[in-house]
Parts: sequence; C-alpha cells; structure tokens
Amino acid sequence: MAHIYNQYTQYLKAKYGERVQKITVIGGFTCPNRDGTKGKGGCIYCNNESFGPPQHLEGLSITDQINHGIKTSLRRYKANKYIVYFQTYSNSYAPLPVLQKIYEEALAHPLVCGLAIGTRPDCVDEKLMIYLAELNQHYDITLELGLESIADNTLLKINRGHSVADFISALNLAQRHNINTGTHLIFGLPWDNSPDYPISVAKFLSKLPITFVKIHQLHVLEKTPLHEIFQTNPFPLLTYQQYLSMIVDFLSNLSPRIVIQRLFAESPPAILRAPIWDKAMSFFYQELEKKMLVKKLYQGIYYTE
Ligand code: SF4
Repeated sequence: MAHIYNQYTQYLKAKYGERVQKITVIGGFTCPNRDGTKGKGGCIYCNNESFGPPQHLEGLSITDQINHGIKTSLRRYKANKYIVYFQTYSNSYAPLPVLQKIYEEALAHPLVCGLAIGTRPDCVDEKLMIYLAELNQHYDITLELGLESIADNTLLKINRGHSVADFISALNLAQRHNINTGTHLIFGLPWDNSPDYPISVAKFLSKLPITFVKIHQLHVLEKTPLHEIFQTNPFPLLTYQQYLSMIVDFLSNLSPRIVIQRLFAESPPAILRAPIWDKAMSFFYQELEKKMLVKKLYQGIYYTE
C-alpha cells in the first residue's frame, strides 16, 4: 500500500536500502536563549528534561553514548547504520573547533553514517556551513532549525529570541551549501488558534527549501514559565481530536516532497502537567492513517504549487 504521508523511516529505507536508526546523544551544549547571550529563561515551554536521552547519560563520552544508544535500540530494531541526533539545547552553539571535535567523534564510530543537528536559526553561520558541507560529502548531515510558530507575534510571546525572517535566512544559508534541513513546530500555542493555522503552516513550509518537518502538540511542562502562565491564567488547550484534525489538515495541504519526521510528542509523565490525553504515540499514528484513509486523503492532496 502506498504511504499516506511521506514518512522518514521510508525515506531512509529508500535512501540506504536498509533500516537506519536515529540515536540521541547529549553533546554538552547550552543555549543562547538561556545563558543571556540572546535571552534569559529560555523559550517559555522549554524543559530540557523532556528530551532524550536519559539525563544519566550526561557526562559519558559521545562514543559511550552512541554504544549505549545502539545497544538499547537493538532491543527493538535491527539496524546496521545509525544517525546520531544532537537534540538537547542548541547543538551548534560553540566555537567551530569544539563542534568539530564533538561531531567528528560521533562520525568516527564505525556504525554511524550521519548526524542530525538540532539548533536555533541564530546559531549557524557561513563558516559552520562550509564545514558541514565538507562533512556532507562523506556523511549524511542534516540540520534541524527550530521555528515553533510561523507568526512573529507568537515567537515574541514564547520568548524565542528570533523572528520568522531569521529562520528563513538560516534555511537559505543551509540550502546554499546543500545541507538538508528540517524544522520543528508546535501546534496548540494559544496565540496560533485560528482554524486555518495548520493550512497556513503547510503552505508556508511548502514554499521553502525544507526537506523534513517535525510537529508536536503543545505540552505544558513543570518548571517552565508556560506552566506558571497556565496556572495563573489557564488558556484553552487542544483536545486530542482537535489535534488529530489539525494534523490531517496540515498533511493534506503540505507538499508531498517534504518528509515527515514526527507528528506527536510524549513527555515524561513526571513533568507533563497538561494536556493529559493518555494516548500512546503508536495509537496516534494508527488513528491518523485510519482517519486519512476513511476520508480518502493523503499528503499534498490539496497542495498547489
Ligand atoms: S527550546 Fe531550544 S532554543 Fe528554546 S530555550 Fe530550550 S534549548 Fe533554548
């Protein structure tokens, strides 16, 4: 059966002819939106405890973290190739020689075929791109530039410390160096509540040189400014069904060329304060496919160039 949307696992399988697994490591970076360079306190929803891998990996070398990740992953998936994912904080926020040491330690592992580098639009520059372009000749290098919302007003409210235009210029810089780039957005921020928001996001991304996209529902996590706002001035949160419908609208209007890396988030129950949907990620993906099949929808059905 043809896939209803352009899934990342299938994209990797088509590219490599075999399963390629992503494993998350902690690079030991911080974030300019936390250390005062760009801002203080970080994005209002951010609690890095919600990212993998477990904090007990902190302090281990990159090689040891990769070996640990491979061992854990082999319990579920048989794979011979791995992409190392630097997810926590801003993973290009360090002088180039420091980055080179960290990235190259990961790439020296015999089972690693590439890197996925999660970062902010204001943490990339020409020098970094020239270096990544060199690596890209031998390895699979991808950048993940966080955007979170396509509205500057929302970016201000969530204290992102960059604009939509900053994101576009970082993306164009990466494209000039042929680095595959993805982005990350959140659905459910209280300032992005117009009914056609998912369609606007799909149209916006479809026009950009984006290779991948990740979306997840807003999570209100403890120890965040968003949680404080929510406690003092509760705002409406998406229901599970509303979110599911938003994703259906989003996919139906998104260019079929864009690869979907993720459409749902799970945060550790110990820090998740709202919404509590009690739905597993696998259940969400099954329901999404079912809903799109029943409605005879697929990624890009309403997309026009
Ligand atoms: S979400 Fe990312 S950019 Fe924002 S404060 Fe957290 S680590 Fe920094």
